Amino acid sequence: MPRPCSPAVLLLVLAFLGKAGAWAATGDLAWAKEGSFRSLYRELVETDTSLSNGSCTLAAERMAARLHAAGFTGRDVRIVVPPGYPRQGNLVARIPGANPNLAPVLLLAHVDVVEAGTADWKRDPFKLVEDRGYLYGRGTVDDKAMAASFVDAFIRYREEGFRPARTVKLALTCGEETDAVFNGVQYLLAKEPDALAAGFAINEGGAGRLDGNGRPVSFGVQAGEKIYQDFTLTATSPGGHSARPAGGNAIGRLAAALVRVDTYRFPANMTAATREFFRRSAEQYEGQTARDLEAAGDGTADDSALSRIAAADPLWNAFLRTTCIPTLIGGGHAANAQPQRAEANVNCRIMPGESVEGVRGRLVDVVADPAVDITLADEPGPQSVAPPPEARIMAPVEAIVAEMWPGVPVIPSLSSGATDGRFLNAAGIPTYGISGVFRDADGNGVHGLDERIRVTALLDARAFLYRLVKAYAGE
Ligand SMILES: [Zn+2]
Repeated sequence: MPRPCSPAVLLLVLAFLGKAGAWAATGDLAWAKEGSFRSLYRELVETDTSLSNGSCTLAAERMAARLHAAGFTGRDVRIVVPPGYPRQGNLVARIPGANPNLAPVLLLAHVDVVEAGTADWKRDPFKLVEDRGYLYGRGTVDDKAMAASFVDAFIRYREEGFRPARTVKLALTCGEETDAVFNGVQYLLAKEPDALAAGFAINEGGAGRLDGNGRPVSFGVQAGEKIYQDFTLTATSPGGHSARPAGGNAIGRLAAALVRVDTYRFPANMTAATREFFRRSAEQYEGQTARDLEAAGDGTADDSALSRIAAADPLWNAFLRTTCIPTLIGGGHAANAQPQRAEANVNCRIMPGESVEGVRGRLVDVVADPAVDITLADEPGPQSVAPPPEARIMAPVEAIVAEMWPGVPVIPSLSSGATDGRFLNAAGIPTYGISGVFRDADGNGVHGLDERIRVTALLDARAFLYRLVKAYAGE
């Protein structure tokens, strides 16, 4: 359908609408190309990339076809299909920079998605449906909004003849959600390190926050991730008839140990990003809370201030320290017998920079019972320090956010989940979660049912990333 008015007129109209549209801020993005972006995004969402039935290879090929059509050729766009994993293909592309002395910037997004039980969804999860301002479909947020925006930006840059100062690399990878089977970032780091080598990377993991009315509250930049580690606590005892208890009951010992773990608080240990998070969050509060957050931000908070912060919000507590809690428990073998064995899982989210072995040692001290054995439930993942929220990363974000969403604060954060950023950080590539996507308070069905994104949030993220990558790459 033809547009009712020219892009310039439309922009003028939108400018008059003022704050109602962050749309107005998308000004320098070619409006006439919105249709082309929507079709690219639709194609990506509608390509099933779940582990059970889908194919990342097909998604990568479809995105590569779009890049080819825009003029990318040869080594500048490639599909990497790992041997033995025909459906786990990855796309790598680049726009060579003019200045070889500048380290490349890497744009990373995963194209695989979490499984979607079609029977449970209101609609077909692999059909993009627009309904009352939202786009529904598996992957609409996680992580195809970013993946589509990056491919679209590459196409736009090509059309404009944009020549970046630093090389811009793009990697659309498979297996982020199911990295125990295969993980594209780990594979590329091992087999094609040049495809990812960069001075820094932009990845998922940081999002904007909307209030209940869909108004932007804050813009998050993720700098670093906690380390996920499970520990197994095992207590054993000789057992025997339950009518003649002999003491040393394995279940009793384990239960006492778990209470001690559950009530223990690790010492506060903030990263540069979480200190900055508290400092900037302080501006949104008043009174004691503002003073406490400010003190946490500048490192002067005393124990009582830290306790008040921890008690006020579980997220704040998670940003202050390593946390460990019991999550699974089992034991005994018969209702009428003393148990011979009891076992529990303790899940820890460890602050970047702290060692897994150090945390295990701390648990041993806290449990203080040699009859309770504490071991790692699985091999530790990659360990890395958190990349600092440096000005070279933050300043361009702040400038563009100030234009697109005036007054919305940019707040660094630490993620307690685990994205592919942990592999890049461990490989020495500082990786920041900057999606540009504003999420609703309800979580948008990510990893769950009826995943959805606001149409405005998608289009704004596209415009934001297009501008941010340009700012990072330099002209
Ligand atoms: Zn994701």
